[in-house]
Amino acid sequence: MAVFPIRVFGDPVLRQPGREVTTFDPDIQKLIRDLFDTMHEAPGVGLAAPQIGVAKRVIVWEVEERSGALANARVADSRGAVEGEEGCLSLPGLAYPVVRAEWVRVEGLNEQGVAVVEAEGLEARVLQHEIDHTDGILFIDRLPQEVRREAMRRLRELAMGLPAEAQTSPRL
Ligand code: ZN
Repeated sequence: MAVFPIRVFGDPVLRQPGREVTTFDPDIQKLIRDLFDTMHEAPGVGLAAPQIGVAKRVIVWEVEERSGALANARVADSRGAVEGEEGCLSLPGLAYPVVRAEWVRVEGLNEQGVAVVEAEGLEARVLQHEIDHTDGILFIDRLPQEVRREAMRRLRELAMGLPAEAQTSPRL
């Protein structure tokens, strides 16, 4: 069991697009175990490698009964748009409604080779959020400009030590 500190806003690794994974070697398998351990400890429902300081395109997620790990994940198809409250382990104390596709088909790699995952609802949201992390994108980038400005102000307040409200939204 290896739990890593979660990198937070301001750490440049969160803005760095992850490198593609070419083979599912033991290093990648260990990275996936570390991501699961760290996500469970947080606790969160999804985690991407840059959040533990590794600039690679690897994500894990666990939403109710459904969990998985993928390398080089990308959204191959999507349907619908739905707004839902989102939080991020790398932006502690912040939660805002974010518009995401309602349904996605994600393609990537797992130990068996090419993998396709179809998901809807919260699982679809988590996949989109984690794939964004592997592109160096944070959920605040997806907010309307006004709301994003308010989020940045809130981040500065939190950095100065102002108390955060209790967070009930899913953290990814
Ligand atoms: Zn996140």
